[in-house]
Amino acid sequence: MAKKSAQTTLIHSDYAAPEGFSAYPTAIHHASTVLFKDVAAMRSGEWKEKNAYTYGLHGTPTTFTLEARLAEIEGGSFCLLAPSGLAAIAMADFALLKTGDDVLLPDNVYNPNRELGTWLTRDFGITARYYDPLIGAGIGAEIQPNTKLIWTEAPGSVSMEVPDLPAICKAAHDKGVLVALDNTWSAGLALRGFDLGVDIIMQALTKYQSGGSDVLMGALITRDRALNDRLALAHMRLGMGVSPDDAYLVMRGLPSMKLRFEAHDASARQVATWLKARPEIARVLHPAFADCPGHDIWQRDFSGAGGLFSVVFDAKYTEAQTDRFVDQLELFGLGYSWGGANSLVMPYRIQAMRSGWSDGGVLVRFNIGLEDTADLIADIEQALCAL
Ligand SMILES: *Cc1c(COP(=O)(O)O)cnc(C)c1O
Repeated sequence: MAKKSAQTTLIHSDYAAPEGFSAYPTAIHHASTVLFKDVAAMRSGEWKEKNAYTYGLHGTPTTFTLEARLAEIEGGSFCLLAPSGLAAIAMADFALLKTGDDVLLPDNVYNPNRELGTWLTRDFGITARYYDPLIGAGIGAEIQPNTKLIWTEAPGSVSMEVPDLPAICKAAHDKGVLVALDNTWSAGLALRGFDLGVDIIMQALTKYQSGGSDVLMGALITRDRALNDRLALAHMRLGMGVSPDDAYLVMRGLPSMKLRFEAHDASARQVATWLKARPEIARVLHPAFADCPGHDIWQRDFSGAGGLFSVVFDAKYTEAQTDRFVDQLELFGLGYSWGGANSLVMPYRIQAMRSGWSDGGVLVRFNIGLEDTADLIADIEQALCAL
């Protein structure tokens, strides 16, 4: 068959149901012990090749099916599942870094990834250094002989700068350094990371793939077999198992993911456009808006946007005032994570999170869910009165 479109890929998989039974869902296979036919089969099965089932922790038909589907969506060849997005990030670090190595992280990196970098530096003899997310080809000057890995995030968490991935990848590959991309914001739908040169794609499946605000999972996707094998060793050594029930929940979200993503995108742009016209808001940090650093790169490299963006309030409003705004919202839940049907809001002390953040206004992040946008806007409007 001709190459399938992204939307069709989300609905059709190669999973084959057992003989005599036909249905669309993938079966949920539970196992700790996996039984071998005989000793020869036990000795010949190679867990890393995924050509045989060896132990529940190394995967079941359910998790293998989800891995194959995620690799296909992202345009990769191999996938490893982890119990959370953060666990997937940690798995990459432990697979690829050792004492004496150096890792570069964008200054706007997902904050728990920064915390991991601090831990690696303090206790493991690895240096984690932070770079300006808009550095582009300038990353070349940051690379040292012991630099092994560069993390990228597109756009970065909370402050939403869009990095120049092709420029970063070229500078990294010129010096033999691997590039990992946290591609969670675009769900693997709006940004083709491998085509832009990255070596490893991380997805927090907790977000759009699940779409239900009810499951935690992460993935590392690669195109290169040797690189996948390095990651797979860490996956095995760290015991990164995921439950087949959770894998099923993620698969249940996939057919609707692109339609949900597009609905989140359209609604978020509507709400952000409305906010941009408000006198209380100084800046809208949404990659599709010109105020967002890296907007031109978003236009060049992305085919859409998600439901997540931030705003910076006019500096005349105190944190106590913007906190009142957040508390006054009725349709927006106050909580971490995103990608589900419910709209969420979160205020951030961005000045403390970022080096060299000069904007004095309070930053508030919105996750626009699937509610009617007129209702969401009316809710924000009434909460702005609390300022
Ligand atoms: C949520 C998130 C993660 C981590 O995912 P968890 O499953 O919550 O651990 C990583 N990166 C980004 C950008 C995220 O938003």
